[in-house]
Formats: sequence, C-alpha cells, structure tokens
Amino acid sequence: MADYDYDLFVIGAGSGGVRASRMSASHGARVGIAEERFLGGTCVNVGCIPKKLFSYGSHYPHAAKEASAYGWDFPEPKLTWSRLIENKDREIERLNGIYRTILANNNVTLYEARATLIDAHTLDVGGEKITADKILVATGGKPQVWDTPGFEHAIVSDAAFYLEDRPDRVLVVGGGYIAVEFAGIFNGYGAETTLVYRGDKILRGFDDDVRVHLAAEMEKKGINIVWNTIIDRIDKVDGGLDVTMSNGEVHQYDQVLYAIGRVPNTGNMGLEEAGVTLNDSGAIVVDDYFQTSVDNIYALGDIIDRYQLTPVAIGEAMKLASNLFKGTREKMDYADIPTAVFSDPPIGTVGLTEEDARDRYGDVEIYRSTFRGLKDTLTGSSEQTLMKLIVDKASDRVLGCHMVGPDAGEITQGLGIALKCGATKAQFDATVGIHPTAAEEFVTMREPVPDP
Ligand code: FAD
Ligand code: NDP
Repeated sequence: MADYDYDLFVIGAGSGGVRASRMSASHGARVGIAEERFLGGTCVNVGCIPKKLFSYGSHYPHAAKEASAYGWDFPEPKLTWSRLIENKDREIERLNGIYRTILANNNVTLYEARATLIDAHTLDVGGEKITADKILVATGGKPQVWDTPGFEHAIVSDAAFYLEDRPDRVLVVGGGYIAVEFAGIFNGYGAETTLVYRGDKILRGFDDDVRVHLAAEMEKKGINIVWNTIIDRIDKVDGGLDVTMSNGEVHQYDQVLYAIGRVPNTGNMGLEEAGVTLNDSGAIVVDDYFQTSVDNIYALGDIIDRYQLTPVAIGEAMKLASNLFKGTREKMDYADIPTAVFSDPPIGTVGLTEEDARDRYGDVEIYRSTFRGLKDTLTGSSEQTLMKLIVDKASDRVLGCHMVGPDAGEITQGLGIALKCGATKAQFDATVGIHPTAAEEFVTMREPVPDP
C-alpha cells in the first residue's frame, strides 16, 4: 500500500463525518477530518438543536395563558428575543467545544479549512496537500435558493437562527419539515404568521390524515395557510416587504423565509474531476456500502440524499467505519425509520402511510382516534390529537404508527422499537396502557374504521 498521510480523510465534520471519523479511529485507523464552517455541522449549528430550542421557547406564552385554568395567573408575557439568541448561541458554542474534544480524544486530526479533491487520493485542505488511502465525503447540504424576483430580500433557515429581532409579520414559503416547524415557532413567539404552499396538502410523503390534521391544527392556532400559491415577486418598500403572490394578492411582511428543500454540497470540490458520479440533483451516487463510482471514495449523510436525518447519517457512519476498519460487511437498514416534525402540535411517525400500505399489502385495517387531551379539559383548548395505526390484515403486523399531538416524537420512538420487532396488533392490544396518558390510546384502539 502506498504511504498515505491518513488511512481515512473525512470532508465535513457534521453528524455523519464526526461519527465516521471517530469510530474509524477507534477501530485503529489514522484519521483526518476537514471542516470549513462549524463543528457538528447542520444539526448542531443551524438545524435540529437550535430549532428544538426555538420550539421549546415558542410554547411558553401559550402555556402561561393555559395555566390560568389551573389557578395560575402570570403577567402578560414580554419577549426579549436577543436573550433567546444569546442563550442559544452559548449552548451551540458549548456543543462545538464538545465535538472538538471528541475528535481530539479519539486522535482524529482536525483541519479547520475547506477540503477539495485533487485526485482520488490527494486533497487540498486549506492550501495544504494531504494524501489518504480512503476518502469520505460527508459535506451535507444547504438551503435551496430560488430565482423569484426579489429573493435577495428573503432569508433561508440558516439566517432564521440569527435574526436580531422577532419579526412582527412573517411569511414562510414551503410545506415541508422546515416550513411547518418555523411557522409554529414564529407563531408561538407571537409573530403574525402566514405559510404559503404551492400544493393543497402540506408535508408530502406523510400519511394523508396527518397532513390534513396538522394543517387544521396550525390554522386553529392562528397560522394563515395560503394554498396552491407561489411567490411571484418580493419588493422592499418603506415599512417592509411587499410580496406578490400567484393568486394575485399582495401582502406586506417583515420577513420572508424560504424553506423549499436543500441541495447537496457537492459544487467546486473536484468530485466529478476525480470520477465521482453525481445524480441529477447533485447528490453523490453510492452503493449499499456507501462506495462511490471511485473505489476508495465514500459518501454518506445528506450528501447522498436518501433520508436527510441526523440519526440516519450517524447510522450510516457507524456501518461504514465498521465495514472499512473492522472487517464487517453490513448494509444500513432503512426500514421503519421513525421521524418527528416539531411543528405545533408535533408529528411522530414510523412505518408506512396508509396509501403505501394499501399499495404494498392490499388488505389493511386502519385504526384511528382523534380526541382532546386530558389537560385541555380544563384549559378549554380545542386542540385535537390524532393517532393512527395501519395493520396488515393477513399477518396482523402493525405497518405504520402516526400521531399528531403533544409529545408525538417522544411517544413514537418507543413505537419504532415495536415495529422493528415486528409487533402485531394483538401484541399492541395485549400491552397494558399507562393511565392517564395520551399514549395509551395506541394500545386501546379496538375497532378498525370502516373499509372505504
Ligand atoms: P451536515 O451536518 O450538514 O455536515 C456537513 C458538514 O460539511 C458541514 O459542517 C459543512 O460546513 C461541511 N463542509 C461542506 N463542504 C465542505 C468542504 N468542502 N470542506 C470542509 N467542510 C465542508 N434532522 C433530524 O434528525 N432531526 C431534526 O430535528 C432536524 N432538524 C433540522 C432542522 C433544520 C433547520 C435543518 C436544516 C436540518 C434538520 N435536520 C434534522 C437534518 C439534519 O441536520 C441533517 O440530516 C444532518 O445534519 C446531516 O448530517 P451530515 O453529516 O450529512 O451533514
Ligand atoms: P422538504 O423537502 O421537507 O420540503 C420542501 C418543501 O418546499 C415542500 O413542501 C415542497 O413542495 C416545497 N417546494 C420545493 N420547491 C419549491 C418551490 N420552488 N417553490 C415553492 N415550494 C417549493 O425540505 P425542507 O427544506 O423543509 O427540509 C429539508 C430536509 O431536512 C427535510 O426533508 C428533512 O429530511 C430534514 N429536516 C428534518 C427535520 C426533522 O427531523 N424534524 C426538521 C427539518 C428538516 P412539494 O412537496 O410540493 O414538492
């Protein structure tokens, strides 16, 4: 074997890159990693973590109001937005430090610089030439921008985490994870919030009942949803941004947030020159073992555009490190990946949607329950929780669990284990509920809804 500087060089210290590098080092490899922007990548800096902190924060005014039914009266809530940003930034800095320590403790050499490929074994890392036997590209993605006239006056999710003030009037463009999460956050923080979506049902890919239920709950909470509409232009005027919509309406906002998907970070990296095949959307094409079209170059995480979720990037990284340096040859299991959308109320989902289950299994039974949570019997809130189970009639196996309601993400994690174990509806039914919880509904739904 040629004498390379490293056994493995990782480009990108995000969720996937950090895990792959430290696991590979723990299996005995000599590992280097390059990061051009922030340790921990998207999730830690401009994704999951600050988003969840914002989400927590957005619930307080509502909770304070509801508390009145339970005997508590608080003064009118007063927001100091800058304190939220400062506290969030401090926590992120702490996490950046933890990532630095993790890499150092595992003897992974960190280069805080941009890395590009010179050839299949040689990288330019901030001007320094570095060689490696194997190279892992884990460079993630960035927000999609659009050619709408006036787009430069809008922001994308990265900037939404650093706003100096809470905008009073916000327009969120898109109907995916980020759009619905930020619509809930801004609305909870007291902004007048509008979501504009080009279709007639948000969250494509989710179960239809979930999509309809969440939209109705968002509207109940005061979010204005404009359907079947795109933005024609944005004009900066005195007092705000005039937004012309394809439905002919013009409205003024203080901020316009585009959340219309993410694109892979594969540009100007020397990938194609080195022979790495990209697909039409610029994502890296890999086989079941994360190998690209070049034998010694691997890719995983958002850059391969399978599931853009942190635990998936981490799971892929664990497999790759083990396969490369521990002698295993295992594939990532993508079946029944649970996911949560931290909308208000949140969604938790694992397994198949009703539509997919009918396509794949034909005869399925649907169990569905909508109800008002116990807490709201005193608050008077009209919020409805949705729970839904999809069951294969032939085998009695539960194929999908879906929920919209408080703590949906927390509840769905446990259901994910049940589905992974191949649990049947009879086993759900045989499970004793925890009373009084909302979650017990998942083990007490007895009557399927009539078959359409
Ligand atoms: P990333 O974490 O994006 O890391 C890639 C790293 O590579 C970055 O740090 C980048 O700076 C670096 N890089 C890029 N090019 C180079 C180069 N040439 N040289 C050196 N460094 C480079 N997922 C969840 O599971 N739960 C959530 O709640 C959730 N919320 C999200 C909220 C938002 C707003 C966003 C945007 C994403 C969210 N995600 C969530 C998705 C999650 O963040 C990603 O799936 C995850 O970060 C992907 O990890 P990765 O390692 O593939 O890429
Ligand atoms: P998504 O792919 O989830 O959603 C993109 C949305 O934008 C869709 O509603 C899409 O509509 C719409 N859209 C696309 N192009 C246009 C356009 N040109 N004009 C108007 N609307 C458009 O992307 P996000 O940016 O929301 O998030 C990226 C990924 O990050 C997610 O898919 C998810 O994997 C991950 N993520 C995970 C989170 C979590 O785990 N809680 C939270 C946030 C992000 P249509 O459906 O009609 O195509």
